[in-house]
Amino acid sequence: MNLILLGPPGAGKGTQAVKIAEAFDLVHLSSGDILRAERKNQTELGRQAQEYMDKGVLVPDDLILSMMIGQIGRIDAGRGFLLDGFPRTLAQAEGLDQRLEAAGRRIDRVVNIVLSDEIVTKRLTGRWSCPQDGRVYHEMFSPPKASGKCDACGTALTRRKDDEPSVVAQRLRTYHEETRPLEAYYSNRGLMANVDGSAEVSAVTDAIRKVCQAV
Ligand code: ADP
Ligand code: AMP
Repeated sequence: MNLILLGPPGAGKGTQAVKIAEAFDLVHLSSGDILRAERKNQTELGRQAQEYMDKGVLVPDDLILSMMIGQIGRIDAGRGFLLDGFPRTLAQAEGLDQRLEAAGRRIDRVVNIVLSDEIVTKRLTGRWSCPQDGRVYHEMFSPPKASGKCDACGTALTRRKDDEPSVVAQRLRTYHEETRPLEAYYSNRGLMANVDGSAEVSAVTDAIRKVCQAV
């Protein structure tokens, strides 16, 4: 099974992706995490992406498409994958479909995690992440066991620069303008399932599992 997790920034895509990938034995590919790793390693792609990411706007489609198609191409034919944060524009969705078709693969389900801008803002401004393994926490909603440290590896947690309120506002504008049209794109293909993202983490996981089980 090949899945896409859609939804605004802060909807809980990363949180859910880890659990769903484990439940269905899928390779988890987060475009945001891959870009942050490229930046950390100071690659040419990371250098090109940074100005866009810091402003809260999208990295150009051609860069993202070649990065993600390259990553998908490395996955064994028999193995399914879960895309988190990609595609984010119609051009990316169309590019993805073309490349998958050429490789004899396809998307089986698109899960749209629905959440209001107001809750998104609360989620992002309280988010802490582990720079080592990418696990995410929230200072109120899902705090780490030991203050400021990753539960899994003990690394000191950090805040993302783009979770600052002014950048969050831009990321939300970008989401409404450029990513929301994907809802109609995937609905027209009969692939979309909406899930309420405002519920507790475990309830959201159950809802996603339910809509994926039918695939
Ligand atoms: P995304 O990957 O969509 O940007 P994240 O998974 O990083 O979103 O979640 C954003 C923030 O919201 C994190 O701080 C995370 O701990 C918190 N969070 C995720 N899901 C829930 C939930 N169902 N209820 C409360 N907080 C949540
Ligand atoms: P995320 O971690 O998904 O919130 O993404 C962080 C930032 O990385 C975004 O604000 C964009 O600048 C960039 N980014 C991630 N995924 C994509 C994508 N599919 N297309 C364009 N830019 C992306």
